[in-house]
Amino acid sequence: MAILNIVKEGDPVLRKECRPVDRITPRVKRLLDDMRDTLVEANGAGLAAPQVGVLRRIAIVENGEGEFIELINPEIIAAEGKQEELEGCLSVPGIWGITDRPMKVTVRATGRDGEEFTVSGEGLLARAFCHEIDHLSGKLFTDNAVRILSPEEVKELTE
Ligand code: ZN
Repeated sequence: MAILNIVKEGDPVLRKECRPVDRITPRVKRLLDDMRDTLVEANGAGLAAPQVGVLRRIAIVENGEGEFIELINPEIIAAEGKQEELEGCLSVPGIWGITDRPMKVTVRATGRDGEEFTVSGEGLLARAFCHEIDHLSGKLFTDNAVRILSPEEVKELTE
């Protein structure tokens, strides 16, 4: 296991479409382990493979209870409601914005065991699913944020 380098906005790798995973190799499992370590170290809510320079459809999301949901080839298959809440990104440090997201989403993905599963999330978890899955298509939350917080607002938030 290892802590990986998180690439920052401006790196072209964050703007590319990721390829699906067709076989869950030991390399994919090691990447998942390393992404988990990296996410814990960075104290984030989620991490997508392109953020560590790998253009594959892989992401992990922390479920709010200290557990990690590993998503291989994830797809949002249902969405309902609406929320406008605060969002940030480990690849866009120091920037926070209000995003327009569904209140609840259902994701279909494959686990490291090769089994397909569905998982639903509301609120923060729904935002995390949307945010990480957007990364797999080269999208960042700042692209369609309703509003980006001013430096003064960020200062207030982090103090
Ligand atoms: Zn992000």
